[in-house]
Amino acid sequence: MSSCDIASPKNSMMPFEEAMSLMFNNINTLPSVESISLTMSLGRILAADITSPVNMPPFDNSAMDGYALRSDDLKNSMSLTLVGTAFAGTPYELAVESGNCIRIMTGAQLPQGCDSVIMQELVDVDGSKITMNSAVSKGNNIRHCGSEFSLGDTVLKQGEVISARHIALIASLGLKTIEVFKSLTVGIFSTGDELVELGLPLKAGQIYDSNRFAIIAQLQKMNMNIIDYGVIKDDPQLIKNAFEQANLEADVVITSGGVSVGEADFTKDILQEIGNIDFWKIAMKPGKPMAFGRLSDSLFFGLPGNPVSAMVTFYQLAKPAIQKLSGQTLKESLRLSATLTNNIKKRAGRLEFQRGIASTNLKGELSVSTASSQSSGMVGSMCNANCFIILPQAQENLSVGDNVIVELFDSNLQG
Ligand code: AMP
Ligand code: MG
Repeated sequence: MSSCDIASPKNSMMPFEEAMSLMFNNINTLPSVESISLTMSLGRILAADITSPVNMPPFDNSAMDGYALRSDDLKNSMSLTLVGTAFAGTPYELAVESGNCIRIMTGAQLPQGCDSVIMQELVDVDGSKITMNSAVSKGNNIRHCGSEFSLGDTVLKQGEVISARHIALIASLGLKTIEVFKSLTVGIFSTGDELVELGLPLKAGQIYDSNRFAIIAQLQKMNMNIIDYGVIKDDPQLIKNAFEQANLEADVVITSGGVSVGEADFTKDILQEIGNIDFWKIAMKPGKPMAFGRLSDSLFFGLPGNPVSAMVTFYQLAKPAIQKLSGQTLKESLRLSATLTNNIKKRAGRLEFQRGIASTNLKGELSVSTASSQSSGMVGSMCNANCFIILPQAQENLSVGDNVIVELFDSNLQG
């Protein structure tokens, strides 16, 4: 039995969810940590919780351009005497006495004595006499110290992928450097005598290697360090050398092709000799055959050769596994209900990831049609699509008007 402990009998297809959990159970380590500048952190993964070193906001301040006052004063008179000004960054240093008010700008610290701000549109100004046209309650238009979070609060969790939103928050705390997980190194190659490098002419029976470029592009979106080993011929010694080198140099090794039944057996033998690899038949479409396991020093994914299958299995299976290995906390992908605008033929038995074109009408209602071709060899069909239509394993034919589940492509596929 290999490291993956496959219980499924030979030739039966493994449910997608089972493949997913078998992979996840094999990934229990975290990458090492490095400290980097916040400005270089986009797309990286937080290696430690971020706790706030300050109260946010750090002081009571005005949410408006207006006048800061003592709200109780207005019980006696709606007119107050203007005694000074507070700017953002330049506080009014004195306490404001009863009967007085100050001009205050948005973001300026609330001076001692004041408990509220009235917006400037609601006052009449006559020299230093300020008359309010409206009552003001205590606390009006004040952003209170610590109202967003308090010193010591956890504001971001380890495993978060840093986006522009997170960078804004971390910068607001004054943190110049942060701890992130080191990016993983992924080695990738394609195997196949029929595969030709880009730019070279095709001879009879040859095709261009497209899978490697599709996977590399996705890995770039995931901030991986990539080692491109190119195309390896169907030669046992060359393949063995490539696996051994990739195993030494990379944390993750990815290949495509050669994992279907009846495919060159030496690939299987080599993999099983130098690691613990299982060849799975997953109950999914596209992408039935796939290999997964461990080499001595790396995780291994053997993707199917058909270009759409390679792209979909990478996206739906390898990507979340690599994200977990990267230290990322995985979030459920957002799945939406959409109305089908064409019929779909489907037999029960496999979970299908059909390529779809989703759009909304003026009311924001989502509908979806299938992309022109669903052949796993036709990579162009991915380019017309913007989503997967996810059809459960037991689902059969569907008709126009039926509701289906749609998962919009994320930035790995959408750009
Ligand atoms: P295989 O999984 O090796 O049996 O390949 C299945 C199909 O995918 C065959 O038509 C292959 O020629 C094709 N294929 C395999 N590898 C690649 C690749 N890297 N790029 C494009 N097509 C490929
Ligand atoms: Mg092949």
